[in-house]
Amino acid sequence: MTFLITAGPTREAIDPVRFISNRSSGKMGYALAAAAIEAGHGVTLISGPVCIAAPEGAEVVRVVTGEEMGGAVQTRMDTGCDVFLMCAAVADFKPREAAARKIKKGDGLTLELVPARDILATVALPRERRVIVGGFAAESESLGENAEKKLREKRCDFICANDITRMDTGFDADENELTVYFREGAPRHFPRAAKKELAREIIKICNEIAEKH
Ligand code: C5P
Repeated sequence: MTFLITAGPTREAIDPVRFISNRSSGKMGYALAAAAIEAGHGVTLISGPVCIAAPEGAEVVRVVTGEEMGGAVQTRMDTGCDVFLMCAAVADFKPREAAARKIKKGDGLTLELVPARDILATVALPRERRVIVGGFAAESESLGENAEKKLREKRCDFICANDITRMDTGFDADENELTVYFREGAPRHFPRAAKKELAREIIKICNEIAEKH
């Protein structure tokens, strides 16, 4: 199968030197790419700015902003893929406009933020071909309830939810603990393990869904 995987954070400019971003390291998305390649699949990895090396064998597309990531996802979706895993921590809000010049320290600063495009919810999926869609959810409360809501609103086959109130798992950590919620079937919990291990489980889940289709 061919996998389209997004990873890492995005950056939204405040001025030429400053930006809004988040703590995503890209480790989970890169681990997914590596696990998919290991299982013999083709991988396009659309990555925000990260400090880790891309797995060998992946076609890597580097982007900076959410808008660029959305554009890159749509282009690859139009070319065709079997599985789309939206693992990137895309900015939910961005400055209404970026200042053309560096904002001076003395000026004071009030940022007006506007909602960014939700890529997962708005990407146009091909009608002629069934794409398996997996999303991620980093939650600090009501994990299950929020995941179920995202499953519906973001048209996902499954959502991998992790609790970000735990400092030893999730953002920037090498390990994670996930509960996967499915459009069809009961949730599955994966206890704390290396992101590489969890990534293999998620690729297996994609294979299982593909076999059912
Ligand atoms: O609603 P929330 O941002 O928590 O949903 C998380 C899921 O949505 C992730 O799969 C993330 O990659 C995706 N997302 C997106 N575009 C955004 C924000 C989140 O595709 N602007």
